[in-house]
Amino acid sequence: MALIVQKFGGSSVADAEKIKHVANRVLETQAAGHQVCVVVSAMGDTTDELIDLADSVSTRRQSREMDMLLTAGERISMSLLAMAIQEMGGKAKSFTGFQAGISTDNVHGSARIWKIEPTRIRETLDQGEIAIVAGFQGFSFESGDVTTLGRGGSDTTAVALAAALKADVCEIYSDVDGVYTADPRVVPRAHKLAQIDIDSMLELSSSGAKILYIRAVEFARRHQVPLRVRSTFSLDPGTLVYTTNPGDDMEEPVVSGVAADDTQSKITVIGIPDRPGKAAELFQIVAEAGANIDMIVQNVSTTETHLSDISFTLPHADRHRVVEALKTEQSEVGFKDVTYDDEIGKLSIVGAGMKTSSGVSAKLFGALARAGINIEMISTSEIRISVVTRADQLKEATRIVHSAFELDAADTAVVYAGTGR
Ligand code: ADP
Ligand code: ASP
Ligand code: MG
Repeated sequence: MALIVQKFGGSSVADAEKIKHVANRVLETQAAGHQVCVVVSAMGDTTDELIDLADSVSTRRQSREMDMLLTAGERISMSLLAMAIQEMGGKAKSFTGFQAGISTDNVHGSARIWKIEPTRIRETLDQGEIAIVAGFQGFSFESGDVTTLGRGGSDTTAVALAAALKADVCEIYSDVDGVYTADPRVVPRAHKLAQIDIDSMLELSSSGAKILYIRAVEFARRHQVPLRVRSTFSLDPGTLVYTTNPGDDMEEPVVSGVAADDTQSKITVIGIPDRPGKAAELFQIVAEAGANIDMIVQNVSTTETHLSDISFTLPHADRHRVVEALKTEQSEVGFKDVTYDDEIGKLSIVGAGMKTSSGVSAKLFGALARAGINIEMISTSEIRISVVTRADQLKEATRIVHSAFELDAADTAVVYAGTGR
Protein backbone atom coordinates (compact mmCIF):
# COMPACT_ATOMS: atom_id res chain seq x y z
CA MET A 1 0.00 0.00 0.00
CA ALA A 2 1.33 3.41 -0.95
CA LEU A 3 0.34 6.88 0.21
CA ILE A 4 -0.30 9.04 -2.84
CA VAL A 5 -0.98 12.77 -2.97
CA GLN A 6 -2.92 13.68 -6.12
CA LYS A 7 -3.37 17.33 -7.10
CA PHE A 8 -6.00 18.31 -9.66
CA GLY A 9 -5.67 21.73 -11.31
CA GLY A 10 -8.46 24.11 -12.23
CA SER A 11 -9.04 22.70 -15.72
CA SER A 12 -9.44 19.19 -14.22
CA VAL A 13 -12.34 20.29 -12.00
CA ALA A 14 -13.80 22.94 -14.31
CA ASP A 15 -17.40 21.62 -14.29
CA ALA A 16 -19.65 18.99 -12.68
CA GLU A 17 -18.81 16.30 -15.26
CA LYS A 18 -15.08 16.81 -14.77
CA ILE A 19 -15.47 16.70 -10.98
CA LYS A 20 -17.24 13.34 -11.32
CA HIS A 21 -14.45 12.13 -13.59
CA VAL A 22 -11.85 13.14 -10.98
CA ALA A 23 -13.91 11.42 -8.25
CA ASN A 24 -13.77 8.25 -10.31
CA ARG A 25 -10.02 8.44 -10.81
CA VAL A 26 -9.40 9.02 -7.13
CA LEU A 27 -11.61 6.05 -6.21
CA GLU A 28 -9.74 3.88 -8.72
CA THR A 29 -6.45 4.76 -7.03
CA GLN A 30 -7.92 3.88 -3.66
CA ALA A 31 -9.38 0.64 -5.04
CA ALA A 32 -5.88 -0.31 -6.20
CA GLY A 33 -5.01 -0.44 -2.49
CA HIS A 34 -3.57 3.01 -1.81
CA GLN A 35 -4.24 5.80 0.66
CA VAL A 36 -5.15 8.95 -1.25
CA CYS A 37 -4.86 12.58 -0.19
CA VAL A 38 -6.27 14.90 -2.85
CA VAL A 39 -5.48 18.58 -3.34
CA VAL A 40 -7.76 20.65 -5.57
CA SER A 41 -7.58 24.03 -7.27
CA ALA A 42 -10.55 26.31 -7.86
CA MET A 43 -12.87 25.33 -10.73
CA GLY A 44 -11.70 26.49 -14.18
CA ASP A 45 -10.83 30.17 -14.25
CA THR A 46 -12.64 30.92 -10.95
CA THR A 47 -9.60 32.61 -9.37
CA ASP A 48 -9.22 35.01 -12.33
CA GLU A 49 -12.94 35.71 -12.29
CA LEU A 50 -12.86 36.49 -8.56
CA ILE A 51 -9.95 38.88 -9.15
CA ASP A 52 -11.94 40.62 -11.93
CA LEU A 53 -14.87 40.89 -9.52
CA ALA A 54 -12.68 42.45 -6.83
CA ASP A 55 -11.31 44.93 -9.39
CA SER A 56 -14.86 45.95 -10.23
CA VAL A 57 -15.64 46.99 -6.65
CA SER A 58 -12.26 48.41 -5.65
CA THR A 59 -9.47 50.28 -7.39
CA ARG A 60 -6.78 48.83 -5.16
CA ARG A 61 -6.08 45.23 -4.19
CA GLN A 62 -6.71 44.93 -0.44
CA SER A 63 -4.48 41.99 0.31
CA ARG A 64 -6.18 40.51 3.38
CA GLU A 65 -9.61 40.65 1.77
CA MET A 66 -8.26 39.37 -1.56
CA ASP A 67 -7.03 36.24 0.20
CA MET A 68 -10.36 35.81 1.94
CA LEU A 69 -12.08 36.07 -1.43
CA LEU A 70 -9.76 33.86 -3.48
CA THR A 71 -9.64 30.99 -0.97
CA ALA A 72 -13.40 30.63 -1.47
CA GLY A 73 -12.67 29.20 -4.95
CA GLU A 74 -10.91 26.11 -3.61
CA ARG A 75 -13.62 25.54 -0.98
CA ILE A 76 -16.16 25.13 -3.74
CA SER A 77 -14.22 22.46 -5.59
CA MET A 78 -13.11 20.52 -2.50
CA SER A 79 -16.64 20.14 -1.14
CA LEU A 80 -18.12 19.25 -4.53
CA LEU A 81 -15.46 16.60 -5.05
CA ALA A 82 -16.17 15.11 -1.60
CA MET A 83 -19.88 14.99 -2.45
CA ALA A 84 -19.22 13.37 -5.83
CA ILE A 85 -17.03 10.68 -4.22
CA GLN A 86 -19.67 9.93 -1.60
CA GLU A 87 -22.34 9.78 -4.27
CA MET A 88 -20.26 7.03 -5.92
CA GLY A 89 -20.18 5.06 -2.67
CA GLY A 90 -16.75 6.22 -1.46
CA LYS A 91 -15.84 7.94 1.77
CA ALA A 92 -14.28 11.39 1.61
CA LYS A 93 -13.93 14.52 3.73
CA SER A 94 -12.82 17.97 2.63
CA PHE A 95 -10.56 20.31 4.61
CA THR A 96 -9.55 23.96 4.33
CA GLY A 97 -5.87 24.86 4.52
CA PHE A 98 -6.37 25.77 8.18
CA GLN A 99 -8.02 22.42 8.98
CA ALA A 100 -5.20 20.63 7.14
CA GLY A 101 -2.74 22.35 9.52
CA ILE A 102 -0.96 24.49 6.92
CA SER A 103 0.46 27.56 8.65
CA THR A 104 2.29 30.30 6.79
CA ASP A 105 3.91 33.68 7.25
CA ASN A 106 1.75 36.78 6.99
CA VAL A 107 2.55 37.82 3.40
CA HIS A 108 -0.91 37.95 1.85
CA GLY A 109 -0.94 36.93 -1.80
CA SER A 110 2.35 35.00 -1.69
CA ALA A 111 2.65 33.51 1.77
CA ARG A 112 5.33 30.93 2.48
CA ILE A 113 4.54 27.73 4.29
CA TRP A 114 6.02 27.78 7.76
CA LYS A 115 4.83 24.49 9.17
CA ILE A 116 2.42 21.67 8.37
CA GLU A 117 0.71 19.57 11.01
CA PRO A 118 -1.68 17.40 9.03
CA THR A 119 -3.16 15.58 12.04
CA ARG A 120 -6.70 15.50 10.72
CA ILE A 121 -5.54 14.42 7.27
CA ARG A 122 -3.63 11.50 8.75
CA GLU A 123 -6.62 10.48 10.87
CA THR A 124 -8.88 10.59 7.84
CA LEU A 125 -6.50 8.46 5.78
CA ASP A 126 -6.06 5.98 8.63
CA GLN A 127 -9.82 5.57 8.79
CA GLY A 128 -9.73 4.47 5.14
CA GLU A 129 -11.28 7.69 3.87
CA ILE A 130 -10.09 10.01 1.12
CA ALA A 131 -8.85 13.37 2.44
CA ILE A 132 -9.45 16.34 0.15
CA VAL A 133 -7.55 19.54 0.85
CA ALA A 134 -8.15 23.01 -0.58
CA GLY A 135 -5.02 24.01 -2.49
CA PHE A 136 -3.29 27.40 -2.47
CA GLN A 137 -4.30 28.39 1.07
CA GLY A 138 -3.07 28.41 4.63
CA PHE A 139 -3.37 30.56 7.71
CA SER A 140 -0.90 32.99 9.17
CA PHE A 141 0.58 31.80 12.46
CA GLU A 142 1.05 35.48 13.42
CA SER A 143 -2.41 36.90 12.70
CA GLY A 144 -4.56 33.79 12.35
CA ASP A 145 -5.82 35.21 9.04
CA VAL A 146 -6.33 33.23 5.86
CA THR A 147 -3.43 33.49 3.38
CA THR A 148 -2.77 32.37 -0.20
CA LEU A 149 0.46 30.88 -1.52
CA GLY A 150 0.76 32.72 -4.86
CA ARG A 151 -0.88 32.01 -8.22
CA GLY A 152 -0.49 28.34 -9.07
CA GLY A 153 0.05 27.64 -5.37
CA SER A 154 -2.06 24.48 -5.21
CA ASP A 155 1.02 22.70 -6.53
CA THR A 156 2.88 23.90 -3.42
CA THR A 157 0.11 22.63 -1.13
CA ALA A 158 0.34 19.20 -2.77
CA VAL A 159 4.12 18.93 -2.54
CA ALA A 160 4.21 20.27 1.02
CA LEU A 161 1.54 17.82 2.15
CA ALA A 162 3.36 14.99 0.36
CA ALA A 163 6.50 15.90 2.32
CA ALA A 164 4.66 16.20 5.65
CA LEU A 165 2.78 12.92 5.15
CA LYS A 166 5.93 11.21 3.80
CA ALA A 167 3.94 10.22 0.72
CA ASP A 168 5.43 7.79 -1.77
CA VAL A 169 4.68 10.09 -4.67
CA CYS A 170 3.05 13.43 -5.42
CA GLU A 171 1.08 13.35 -8.67
CA ILE A 172 0.20 16.67 -10.31
CA TYR A 173 -2.75 16.20 -12.69
CA SER A 174 -3.31 18.82 -15.37
CA ASP A 175 -4.71 19.23 -18.89
CA VAL A 176 -1.64 17.96 -20.78
CA ASP A 177 0.15 14.59 -20.60
CA GLY A 178 3.17 15.85 -18.67
CA VAL A 179 6.07 18.24 -18.96
CA TYR A 180 6.73 19.05 -22.61
CA THR A 181 9.76 20.50 -24.36
CA ALA A 182 7.72 23.73 -24.65
CA ASP A 183 4.19 24.91 -23.91
CA PRO A 184 2.09 22.78 -26.31
CA ARG A 185 -0.33 25.70 -26.71
CA VAL A 186 2.50 27.72 -28.27
CA VAL A 187 4.55 24.95 -29.89
CA PRO A 188 2.12 22.30 -31.19
CA ARG A 189 5.02 19.98 -32.04
CA ALA A 190 6.45 20.02 -28.53
CA HIS A 191 7.08 16.52 -27.22
CA LYS A 192 6.45 15.05 -23.81
CA LEU A 193 9.46 14.25 -21.65
CA ALA A 194 9.38 10.84 -19.94
CA GLN A 195 11.53 12.33 -17.20
CA ILE A 196 13.35 15.50 -16.25
CA ASP A 197 15.88 16.31 -13.50
CA ILE A 198 14.57 18.63 -10.82
CA ASP A 199 17.20 21.33 -11.43
CA SER A 200 16.07 21.71 -15.04
CA MET A 201 12.43 21.69 -13.91
CA LEU A 202 13.23 24.47 -11.46
CA GLU A 203 14.77 26.57 -14.25
CA LEU A 204 11.83 25.87 -16.61
CA SER A 205 9.32 26.86 -13.92
CA SER A 206 11.18 30.03 -13.03
CA SER A 207 11.42 30.90 -16.74
CA GLY A 208 7.67 30.82 -17.33
CA ALA A 209 6.61 27.17 -17.82
CA LYS A 210 3.51 27.24 -15.65
CA ILE A 211 2.92 23.48 -15.71
CA LEU A 212 4.55 23.39 -12.24
CA TYR A 213 4.71 26.31 -9.84
CA ILE A 214 8.28 27.23 -8.95
CA ARG A 215 7.80 27.16 -5.19
CA ALA A 216 6.39 23.64 -5.43
CA VAL A 217 9.48 22.50 -7.36
CA GLU A 218 11.75 24.19 -4.79
CA PHE A 219 9.91 22.43 -2.00
CA ALA A 220 10.13 19.06 -3.78
CA ARG A 221 13.85 19.55 -4.29
CA ARG A 222 14.52 20.46 -0.69
CA HIS A 223 12.45 17.63 0.75
CA GLN A 224 13.24 15.05 -1.94
CA VAL A 225 9.58 14.56 -2.89
CA PRO A 226 9.17 12.37 -5.98
CA LEU A 227 6.93 14.25 -8.43
CA ARG A 228 4.98 12.96 -11.41
CA VAL A 229 3.12 15.29 -13.79
CA ARG A 230 0.17 13.62 -15.54
CA SER A 231 -3.06 14.33 -17.37
CA THR A 232 -6.46 13.91 -15.71
CA PHE A 233 -7.86 13.02 -19.10
CA SER A 234 -5.58 10.17 -20.25
CA LEU A 235 -3.78 7.14 -18.83
CA ASP A 236 -0.37 8.32 -20.02
CA PRO A 237 2.23 7.72 -17.28
CA GLY A 238 3.27 11.38 -17.56
CA THR A 239 6.64 12.87 -16.64
CA LEU A 240 8.77 11.86 -13.68
CA VAL A 241 10.57 14.81 -12.08
CA TYR A 242 13.50 13.16 -10.34
CA THR A 243 15.91 14.29 -7.66
CA THR A 244 18.31 11.41 -8.32
CA ASN A 245 18.72 10.06 -11.82
CA PRO A 246 16.92 6.70 -11.98
CA GLY A 247 19.21 5.52 -14.78
CA ASP A 248 22.69 6.61 -13.73
CA ASP A 249 24.19 5.73 -17.07
CA MET A 250 21.87 8.13 -18.87
CA GLU A 251 23.28 11.34 -20.25
CA GLU A 252 21.36 14.53 -19.54
CA PRO A 253 19.95 16.19 -22.66
CA VAL A 254 21.74 19.38 -23.72
CA VAL A 255 18.39 21.16 -24.04
CA SER A 256 15.38 19.71 -22.20
CA GLY A 257 13.00 22.51 -22.98
CA VAL A 258 12.22 26.04 -24.08
CA ALA A 259 10.20 28.39 -21.87
CA ALA A 260 8.64 31.76 -22.60
CA ASP A 261 7.65 34.49 -20.18
CA ASP A 262 5.60 37.52 -21.19
CA THR A 263 4.95 38.75 -17.68
CA GLN A 264 8.11 40.81 -17.26
CA SER A 265 8.88 44.51 -17.71
CA LYS A 266 12.22 46.23 -18.17
CA ILE A 267 13.34 49.31 -16.25
CA THR A 268 16.35 51.37 -17.39
CA VAL A 269 18.10 53.83 -15.11
CA ILE A 270 19.94 56.32 -17.30
CA GLY A 271 23.06 58.31 -16.45
CA ILE A 272 24.02 56.78 -13.16
CA PRO A 273 27.48 57.79 -11.81
CA ASP A 274 30.00 54.99 -12.48
CA ARG A 275 31.31 54.80 -8.91
CA PRO A 276 31.55 51.99 -6.35
CA GLY A 277 28.36 51.81 -4.27
CA LYS A 278 25.96 53.29 -6.84
CA ALA A 279 24.56 49.94 -8.01
CA ALA A 280 24.16 48.94 -4.37
CA GLU A 281 22.18 52.13 -3.66
CA LEU A 282 19.96 51.55 -6.66
CA PHE A 283 19.14 47.93 -5.90
CA GLN A 284 18.58 48.74 -2.23
CA ILE A 285 15.72 51.00 -3.37
CA VAL A 286 14.39 48.23 -5.62
CA ALA A 287 14.61 45.70 -2.77
CA GLU A 288 12.83 48.03 -0.36
CA ALA A 289 10.02 48.35 -2.92
CA GLY A 290 9.67 44.57 -2.55
CA ALA A 291 10.43 43.65 -6.15
CA ASN A 292 11.90 40.40 -7.31
CA ILE A 293 14.33 41.30 -10.07
CA ASP A 294 15.61 38.94 -12.69
CA MET A 295 18.11 39.99 -15.37
CA ILE A 296 20.49 42.93 -14.89
CA VAL A 297 22.62 44.57 -17.58
CA GLN A 298 24.99 47.49 -17.06
CA ASN A 299 26.56 49.20 -20.04
CA VAL A 300 30.10 50.59 -20.04
CA SER A 301 30.37 54.24 -19.14
CA THR A 302 32.17 56.62 -21.45
CA THR A 303 35.48 58.04 -20.23
CA GLU A 304 34.19 61.60 -20.70
CA THR A 305 30.97 61.37 -18.71
CA HIS A 306 31.66 58.57 -16.20
CA LEU A 307 27.96 57.82 -16.41
CA SER A 308 26.45 54.46 -17.27
CA ASP A 309 22.97 52.95 -17.74
CA ILE A 310 21.59 49.96 -15.87
CA SER A 311 18.63 47.91 -17.12
CA PHE A 312 16.85 45.15 -15.23
CA THR A 313 13.72 43.05 -15.61
CA LEU A 314 11.00 42.41 -13.03
CA PRO A 315 7.34 41.26 -12.97
CA HIS A 316 4.82 43.65 -14.62
CA ALA A 317 3.00 43.88 -11.30
CA ASP A 318 6.05 45.42 -9.56
CA ARG A 319 7.04 47.86 -12.30
CA HIS A 320 4.92 50.87 -11.29
CA ARG A 321 5.97 50.64 -7.63
CA VAL A 322 9.67 50.39 -8.45
CA VAL A 323 9.65 53.27 -10.98
CA GLU A 324 7.92 55.48 -8.41
CA ALA A 325 10.40 54.49 -5.68
CA LEU A 326 13.35 55.26 -7.98
CA LYS A 327 11.92 58.65 -8.99
CA THR A 328 11.55 59.59 -5.33
CA GLU A 329 15.27 58.90 -4.75
CA GLN A 330 16.50 60.29 -8.11
CA SER A 331 18.38 63.33 -6.80
CA GLU A 332 19.76 61.40 -3.82
CA VAL A 333 21.32 58.70 -6.05
CA GLY A 334 22.11 61.20 -8.78
CA PHE A 335 20.93 59.53 -11.99
CA LYS A 336 19.50 61.40 -14.99
CA ASP A 337 16.30 59.53 -15.85
CA VAL A 338 14.36 56.30 -15.43
CA THR A 339 12.36 54.67 -18.26
CA TYR A 340 10.38 51.45 -18.55
CA ASP A 341 9.21 49.01 -21.22
CA ASP A 342 6.29 46.61 -20.68
CA GLU A 343 6.51 45.06 -24.15
CA ILE A 344 9.36 42.64 -23.58
CA GLY A 345 9.36 38.84 -23.78
CA LYS A 346 11.85 36.47 -22.19
CA LEU A 347 12.82 33.23 -23.88
CA SER A 348 14.90 30.60 -22.08
CA ILE A 349 16.44 27.30 -23.04
CA VAL A 350 17.17 24.87 -20.24
CA GLY A 351 19.15 21.65 -20.06
CA ALA A 352 21.45 19.92 -17.58
CA GLY A 353 23.71 18.76 -20.43
CA MET A 354 24.57 22.39 -21.22
CA LYS A 355 27.20 22.29 -18.48
CA THR A 356 29.42 20.09 -20.62
CA SER A 357 28.41 21.18 -24.09
CA SER A 358 29.77 23.98 -26.22
CA GLY A 359 28.15 25.98 -28.99
CA VAL A 360 24.71 26.14 -27.37
CA SER A 361 24.60 29.96 -27.21
CA ALA A 362 25.89 30.24 -30.78
CA LYS A 363 23.09 27.97 -31.97
CA LEU A 364 20.45 29.94 -30.04
CA PHE A 365 21.65 33.36 -31.21
CA GLY A 366 22.09 32.09 -34.78
CA ALA A 367 18.51 30.76 -34.96
CA LEU A 368 17.12 34.08 -33.70
CA ALA A 369 19.33 36.08 -36.05
CA ARG A 370 18.18 34.10 -39.11
CA ALA A 371 14.58 34.88 -38.14
CA GLY A 372 15.42 38.58 -37.79
CA ILE A 373 14.66 38.60 -34.06
CA ASN A 374 16.72 41.10 -32.12
CA ILE A 375 18.19 40.13 -28.73
CA GLU A 376 17.97 42.96 -26.17
CA MET A 377 19.40 41.31 -23.06
CA ILE A 378 21.11 38.03 -22.25
CA SER A 379 21.59 36.15 -18.99
CA THR A 380 22.85 32.67 -18.25
CA SER A 381 23.13 30.11 -15.49
CA GLU A 382 24.98 26.80 -15.63
CA ILE A 383 21.98 25.09 -17.21
CA ARG A 384 19.98 27.98 -18.75
CA ILE A 385 20.36 30.74 -21.34
CA SER A 386 17.74 33.50 -21.41
CA VAL A 387 17.27 36.30 -23.91
CA VAL A 388 14.92 39.27 -23.97
CA THR A 389 13.07 39.99 -27.23
CA ARG A 390 10.05 42.09 -28.20
CA ALA A 391 6.87 40.64 -26.61
CA ASP A 392 5.12 40.27 -29.95
CA GLN A 393 7.97 38.11 -31.28
CA LEU A 394 8.13 35.77 -28.31
CA LYS A 395 5.85 33.00 -29.61
CA GLU A 396 7.54 32.92 -33.00
CA ALA A 397 10.95 32.91 -31.29
CA THR A 398 9.90 29.97 -29.11
CA ARG A 399 8.86 27.89 -32.13
CA ILE A 400 12.03 28.76 -34.05
CA VAL A 401 14.34 27.89 -31.17
CA HIS A 402 12.42 24.67 -30.47
CA SER A 403 13.02 23.58 -34.07
CA ALA A 404 16.64 24.74 -34.08
CA PHE A 405 17.42 22.43 -31.18
CA GLU A 406 15.66 19.57 -33.00
CA LEU A 407 13.01 19.17 -30.33
CA ASP A 408 10.03 19.01 -32.74
CA ALA A 409 7.94 15.83 -32.55
CA ALA A 410 6.37 14.12 -35.55
CA ASP A 411 2.86 14.53 -34.09
CA THR A 412 0.92 17.39 -32.59
CA ALA A 413 0.65 17.49 -28.78
CA VAL A 414 -2.80 17.09 -27.23
CA VAL A 415 -4.19 19.75 -24.89
CA TYR A 416 -7.24 18.11 -23.27
CA ALA A 417 -8.92 21.03 -21.52
CA GLY A 418 -8.39 24.46 -20.04
CA THR A 419 -8.45 27.92 -21.55
CA GLY A 420 -4.75 28.70 -21.12
CA ARG A 421 -5.67 31.75 -19.06
P1 ADP B 1 -3.64 23.57 -13.85
O1 ADP B 1 -4.96 24.26 -13.97
O2 ADP B 1 -3.76 22.08 -13.96
O3 ADP B 1 -2.83 24.01 -12.68
P2 ADP B 1 -1.95 25.23 -15.48
O4 ADP B 1 -2.71 26.03 -16.48
O5 ADP B 1 -1.40 25.88 -14.28
O6 ADP B 1 -2.85 23.96 -15.14
O7 ADP B 1 -0.72 24.49 -16.21
C1 ADP B 1 -0.93 23.67 -17.33
C2 ADP B 1 -0.58 24.41 -18.59
O8 ADP B 1 0.81 24.74 -18.56
C3 ADP B 1 -0.73 23.61 -19.87
O9 ADP B 1 -2.04 23.62 -20.35
C4 ADP B 1 0.26 24.32 -20.80
O10 ADP B 1 -0.41 25.24 -21.65
C5 ADP B 1 1.17 25.10 -19.88
N1 ADP B 1 2.60 24.82 -20.07
C6 ADP B 1 3.58 25.76 -20.15
N2 ADP B 1 4.77 25.21 -20.36
C7 ADP B 1 4.57 23.86 -20.40
C8 ADP B 1 5.45 22.75 -20.57
N3 ADP B 1 6.76 22.89 -20.73
N4 ADP B 1 4.91 21.50 -20.55
C9 ADP B 1 3.57 21.34 -20.38
N5 ADP B 1 2.70 22.36 -20.21
C10 ADP B 1 3.19 23.62 -20.22
N1 ASP C 1 -6.57 28.69 -7.90
C1 ASP C 1 -5.25 29.24 -7.75
C2 ASP C 1 -4.82 29.94 -9.04
O1 ASP C 1 -5.57 29.96 -10.00
C3 ASP C 1 -4.23 28.23 -7.32
C4 ASP C 1 -3.95 27.14 -8.32
O2 ASP C 1 -4.74 26.90 -9.25
O3 ASP C 1 -2.93 26.48 -8.18
O4 ASP C 1 -3.75 30.48 -9.07
MG1 MG D 1 -1.08 25.28 -12.24
